[in-house]
Amino acid sequence: MKSICVFCGSSPGSLPEYGLGAEKLGRALLDRGIGLVYGGAGFGLMGRLADTMLAGGGKVTGVMPSALINREVAHTGLSDLRVVDSMHERKALMGDLSDAFVAMPGGLGTVEELLEVLTLAQLDIHRKPCGILNIGGYFDHLLAFLDVAADRQFLTNDHRSLLLDSERPDTLLEMLQNFDPSEVDKVAWIREVNRADVAGK
Ligand code: AMP
Repeated sequence: MKSICVFCGSSPGSLPEYGLGAEKLGRALLDRGIGLVYGGAGFGLMGRLADTMLAGGGKVTGVMPSALINREVAHTGLSDLRVVDSMHERKALMGDLSDAFVAMPGGLGTVEELLEVLTLAQLDIHRKPCGILNIGGYFDHLLAFLDVAADRQFLTNDHRSLLLDSERPDTLLEMLQNFDPSEVDKVAWIREVNRADVAGK
């Protein structure tokens, strides 16, 4: 694994453990010689993670749309800042540059980015591992929701298992490295459920 894309808050969050978790993840990436790809901002957990990586001599690539650059939110010390035209282009490039995806605590932007990469994995559009660094149980409700979705057959158990999680950066990185993508055919599965549904009527 050469590079990991991290989605995380543009805010620092309410607890010191979030920022400390960003630093721990940064150091775990440095220890393994893995580069960081992220949204390119200089503040919040995003900035804390990038600063940790840069201080340790790591490679950090920020990907930002020009509209945000003009609002002067970009980190000024990045090894590589890619400027794109739109949020869509940005997500596509972040994906192209990375071998895996990790979400840390964050808000709407973070959750939207995470769910998009999971949806694309479910459709077999990419086969890259996806994980959550679940600091302080921050994502417990999202994980519980996905369990309900699987239980009620809106999500297969195989697709539920596409999302790895750990509270520890080292463990999570190991899980990502060992991940073996499922080969479930989503379309066949939908047909199967519909057939059972019709037969049950
Ligand atoms: P949020 O979780 O809502 O704070 O959004 C953070 C996520 O969305 C990050 O992973 C970024 O990729 C993206 N993002 C949101 N706001 C910004 C910003 N001001 N600058 C750069 N990226 C941002």
